[in-house]
Amino acid sequence: MISFDRTEREIAALLWEAKDPKVIAGALEIAVSTAYRRIDEMCERAQVNGRHELLLYILQNPECLLRGEKTPAGLHEQPCECGSPYCLGGIMLLRRKIAA
Ligand SMILES: [Zn+2]
Repeated sequence: MISFDRTEREIAALLWEAKDPKVIAGALEIAVSTAYRRIDEMCERAQVNGRHELLLYILQNPECLLRGEKTPAGLHEQPCECGSPYCLGGIMLLRRKIAA
């Protein structure tokens, strides 16, 4: 299980809003290189490849945005019925394929 510190939770919230690392750096008043490094560290702990997968991770584990919450590393195997925004969308896509 992993958790994000305060800065990482702020980065996660900005990634959720589809902000890129330069915009994140500006919003948090940190160097762009620091934003990239923090994102890399988050990816490593979450066991995902790159910030796009990190966004999927956040969509699958929205509790990671909250202080003190621990979430499992790695992306959810699909289809997944955990009820997160991402996995719910996957179930809907599956139903659409079955119905078609
Ligand atoms: Zn899931």
